[in-house]
Amino acid sequence: MDISNEKLYEIAEGARANAYAPFSGFCVGAALLTDDGEVYTGVNIENSSYGATICAERVAFVKAISEGKRGFRKIAVSAGAEESIPCGICRQFMYEFSPEIEVITKAAGELKVRPLTELLPEAFVLDK
Ligand code: ZN
Repeated sequence: MDISNEKLYEIAEGARANAYAPFSGFCVGAALLTDDGEVYTGVNIENSSYGATICAERVAFVKAISEGKRGFRKIAVSAGAEESIPCGICRQFMYEFSPEIEVITKAAGELKVRPLTELLPEAFVLDK
């Protein structure tokens, strides 16, 4: 199943309702499309021990990977009115599985689509 960038972003936007962000109030939702057409959502989950906080993008990836998925086509990330570009840790995390994934965000009402390699041109990679 293919899914439009607009639809994937809508799903990410809808997922924000489940974000757990009592400290920052910055609620993020992500929607991840797998190679086989399934969508996994994620939200940011903060913690009293700040270092234990996890971003929406990695939550979506962790859910999918733990269900056996390994290939991903695109991920939409929504923080409401503000554009939310994946942080450095998430960029590296996503690169491990899908260097060519497209990252969809929205800025000033317009969807922006960037290949991950543009956001992270020189990723760290170990030989497998
Ligand atoms: Zn992140």
